[in-house]
Amino acid sequence: MGLWDGGYGAVEVRRIHPYEATKTYVCPGCHQHIAPGTGHIVAVPAEATDLRRHWHKPCWAQREAMTKRQKAPSITRTRTPRTDTTSKRTSTP
Ligand SMILES: [Zn+2]
Repeated sequence: MGLWDGGYGAVEVRRIHPYEATKTYVCPGCHQHIAPGTGHIVAVPAEATDLRRHWHKPCWAQREAMTKRQKAPSITRTRTPRTDTTSKRTSTP
């Protein structure tokens, strides 16, 4: 579970209006700059507010769509099952 998938609590999303965007940010979705004056999204994990990130609106929307698609808990178990045939013996004292 990652930072944006509830790993740090619910993620609060704030809209930043173009006039509020005064700095250049790097969007974690596409690693491109968000230029000043660009309306965008700030995602703030409830339990880690210092890890908030600025996202392009389309990038955030895409991420949301992706996490929704992956919502089914399909944890791929790649671990090979233990072959402990020796422990199957009934241990009578
Ligand atoms: Zn982006």
